[in-house]
Amino acid sequence: MNKSIVSSFDVDHRTLATGLYLRSIYPINDDLAVYSWDLRFRAPMAHAPLGSGEVHTIEHLMAYYLRLDPVIGSRIVSFCPMGCKTGFYLSTMNDVEPQQIRAALAKVYADVFPLRSAEDIVGLNEVQCGNPGLYAIETTNSAMAEYLRCLYTREEAVEAGIGDIYNTER
Ligand SMILES: [Zn+2]
Repeated sequence: MNKSIVSSFDVDHRTLATGLYLRSIYPINDDLAVYSWDLRFRAPMAHAPLGSGEVHTIEHLMAYYLRLDPVIGSRIVSFCPMGCKTGFYLSTMNDVEPQQIRAALAKVYADVFPLRSAEDIVGLNEVQCGNPGLYAIETTNSAMAEYLRCLYTREEAVEAGIGDIYNTER
């Protein structure tokens, strides 16, 4: 897995591939730091960005379900979309490993995907969300599968219980 520790504006986005990157570290004290991870779903310029409905749907699902993960859930600070719609920022405490994030994403996929209707999207209502009419089902299913294919080989996916990310390939 690629890993680099640089702030986002110092990255050359013309050559940035899809993947999971450690992007910045914000120290709080001698023991604690917040890590900012770049979950890059689409290569800037090379691929079309995600649609707004996909971004919003993934934000709702990951912000909720990653916090339920038995390994990293309690270590999550925030999950936020990038304004350029090519990925998301996940902030965690410093004791989280990239392999644990990868496994947590796979677990959400195994538990929640494929989405079938808006009822599968947690928090998508007028009380909890600013724009509950903004979501996507089919294209979010394919965007998540596509992203996980860049983190998991076919063999690893089968082992992690998400082998269908390769069956949905189009
Ligand atoms: Zn919302």
